Amino acid sequence: TDDRITTPIRRPDDVDAALRPKALDEFVGQQAARENLRVFIDAARGRGDVLDHVLFFGPPGLGKTTLAQIVAREMGVGFRATSGPVIAKSGDLAALLTNLEDGDVLFIDEIHRLNPAVEEVLYPAMEDRALDLMIGEGPSARSVRIDLPRFTLVGATTRQGLLTTPLRDRFGIPIRLQFYTVDELTRVVTRAAGLLDLGIAKDGATEVARRARGTPRIAGRLLRRVRDFANVAGVEIVDARTADAALNRLEVDAKGLDAMDRRYLTMIADVYRGGPVGVETLAAGLSEPRDTIEEVIEPYLIQIGMIARTARGRCLNAGGWKHLGFEPPAGVQD
Ligand code: ADP
Repeated sequence: TDDRITTPIRRPDDVDAALRPKALDEFVGQQAARENLRVFIDAARGRGDVLDHVLFFGPPGLGKTTLAQIVAREMGVGFRATSGPVIAKSGDLAALLTNLEDGDVLFIDEIHRLNPAVEEVLYPAMEDRALDLMIGEGPSARSVRIDLPRFTLVGATTRQGLLTTPLRDRFGIPIRLQFYTVDELTRVVTRAAGLLDLGIAKDGATEVARRARGTPRIAGRLLRRVRDFANVAGVEIVDARTADAALNRLEVDAKGLDAMDRRYLTMIADVYRGGPVGVETLAAGLSEPRDTIEEVIEPYLIQIGMIARTARGRCLNAGGWKHLGFEPPAGVQD
């Protein structure tokens, strides 16, 4: 599913970096997160301290990497980025940590995918700013402790529950990111259009926003495709009609759902009469990994009330039935 236009997962052709806001005040939406960060950053700076370790969690494409960079910039410190799967051995992490400069932000994306041996190295590093190294082997082996520079670890993960408890407990500042409202995304789209040098009317921006699954990364991507259509058609200012025509051609429907989402909904409706049906069964039926279903497809469908996750499995809500063009069966949840 990574090649779908509506996948929130980062793709090689994304121009994320170009569209990233650089300051907290430029960052649209996520008001609670922004206000909290503002207080913690000002307080740490006032004390001449480093910021406590921060964990950002929430679906892909909502701005975790962007906020991590903003944290470093607002603290006036350096920024180093890596990701859980990239750090293969504890020695790799040790090398990263010992190379940090005083106060640096170390950003670890997909931090839930660190291997356990590497994670062990992180605990004393986060807690005591120390590295415990084993030197030698067998009876003469001994452990030496190395002091590390002061640093802030910023971790990102799609779900807080994917982290081990000891790791989760070491983050002083856990922050959940939410899907964006259409108003917020309209501002994201308008800002991005400015950066892409594309003329867009308010209703054009709103149309893109409405179909971006609450996700800035998708909004940016849809906008670039809309720009392609506009350029070819010789349209100077993108309005709702132009945007709608372009998005229809991309098979992104009025709610921002694509063919994969509709297959998912249709399977629950047709094969399982609206559910409940277990996620493993759906994964097998759709030939998609369970992780993709749980982290990419379902969160937005739940957000817009089309499905519900229950203890017995996934159920189609009234909104899901209606979206497929069916009258919801009696007794179905709204
Ligand atoms: P994540 O790390 O959560 O997957 P990113 O931080 O990489 O998401 O953001 C994805 C894209 O969305 C980037 O192009 C970024 O500029 C844009 N973006 C994210 N949040 C915002 C926001 N609040 N305002 C404007 N653009 C945003």
